[in-house]
Amino acid sequence: MTVNEIFYSLQGEGRFAGTPATFVRFSGCNLRCDFCDTDHQSGREMTEDEIVGCVGEFPSEHVILTGGEPTLQLTAPLLGQLKRAGKIVHIETNGTVRLADDVAAHIDWITVSPKFGMIPEIQRIDELKVVFDMNHTEHIDRLAGVRATDDQCYSLQPCDRNDALYNARNLYRLYQAQPALEAVAPAPQTARHPLTARRLVDARNKTIGRDDMLVV
Ligand code: SF4
Repeated sequence: MTVNEIFYSLQGEGRFAGTPATFVRFSGCNLRCDFCDTDHQSGREMTEDEIVGCVGEFPSEHVILTGGEPTLQLTAPLLGQLKRAGKIVHIETNGTVRLADDVAAHIDWITVSPKFGMIPEIQRIDELKVVFDMNHTEHIDRLAGVRATDDQCYSLQPCDRNDALYNARNLYRLYQAQPALEAVAPAPQTARHPLTARRLVDARNKTIGRDDMLVV
């Protein structure tokens, strides 16, 4: 398996935001999103035992397998070892790959972030994160029939193009589009935290950086 990095941090997004976790970032992805900000191309070869050993050096109960695209490399032995070590196993995926049943059975939480309106192939979605790009709202419409197991775990995530002006306009369009989006996106987190978008848009004199974009 090719692993880009293993590190200990807080989950910054979604249902488990604020939860201490060990992140295993796998190298490689089957998509080439033009807004991808993740360095996942480099990495080193590690066995399942080495990954589990490294994860065991950190104190967190939660382990988040991310990427890149983790589903391209996950194996039942790796997942089984993590579960036997008492870990709560999450994955973060673009949803394009259907998991083997013996892999899926060991995963406690699946966060899916579909790209370009692609309907997920993965067999289970516990949490759905849909990227909002003001120039491609058709992607959200296309995903209207896709549901997470819990409607409360649906979030619209503003696309970060590493361009402060574009990001500010995008946030404002997301705020404006909110009522219409509620028709296709049940209980979006943006609806429950409307001030988040307004606060950022109102801060005209402030540089809107990547950290701010991850707040929603
Ligand atoms: S799916 Fe995620 S990791 Fe893969 S290219 Fe797109 S943004 Fe990057």
